[in-house]
Amino acid sequence: MNVADNIRQIREAMAEAARRSGRPASSVRLMAVTKTVDDDRILAAIRAGVEIIGENYVQEAKRKIEKMGNESEWHMIGHLQTNKAKYAVRLFDMIHSVDRLELAAELDRRARADGRVMKVLIEVNVSGEETKSGVPLATARDLVRAVALLENISIRGLMTMPPWFDDPEEARPFFRALRELRDQITGEGIPQVEMRELSMGMTGDYAVAIEEGATVVRIGRGIFGERPAR
Ligand SMILES: *Cc1c(COP(=O)(O)O)cnc(C)c1O
Repeated sequence: MNVADNIRQIREAMAEAARRSGRPASSVRLMAVTKTVDDDRILAAIRAGVEIIGENYVQEAKRKIEKMGNESEWHMIGHLQTNKAKYAVRLFDMIHSVDRLELAAELDRRARADGRVMKVLIEVNVSGEETKSGVPLATARDLVRAVALLENISIRGLMTMPPWFDDPEEARPFFRALRELRDQITGEGIPQVEMRELSMGMTGDYAVAIEEGATVVRIGRGIFGERPAR
């Protein structure tokens, strides 16, 4: 199967899952996750009309964006070191992996210097697994309130990565917990905070994530095939 065919199939499954959740297909955007993917196949995904390219590494993203341009949006989804904030602000349309105030404050400082407002999602570690990045569920609201005070940061929603399961149904409670957190935060009416986006769902579990309210699904293997071991 080629990239364009894979994208077409995924879009159909996305639309069906959106319908099951009582939403229009247009309420969920597709991100192609491109770590380890060669340039020709990324360009094929852009030509096939993916809305967003998702990158895990700043350095890799810089090279690709310079080559491929801004036809699609570029979003940062990997762990972001504070000392890379300067480059992240210049490269990305949105950063999904803000999980600590120190990072947000540095992004704010760099965004102000560049005269822009950086759109971010707060990454939440719903499962509490120690190997995962993300702010713990219990302190996520405190982080949102603190980041909301930064003038050059705009919070657009939440992101999560549940534990890996063979059966995607087992990921459902983690997606649901993120949606419930979103609804709680929305209810608080914090100024400057828009809880519009829920970035959740990958190749194995995106349909379940959409049923639970995802607005962005992040798909790598489903579009590009299995990744080589790194
Ligand atoms: C790699 C990655 C994905 C995509 O995973 P697939 O299983 O290949 O769809 C999604 N989100 C993040 C944060 C990733 O690192």
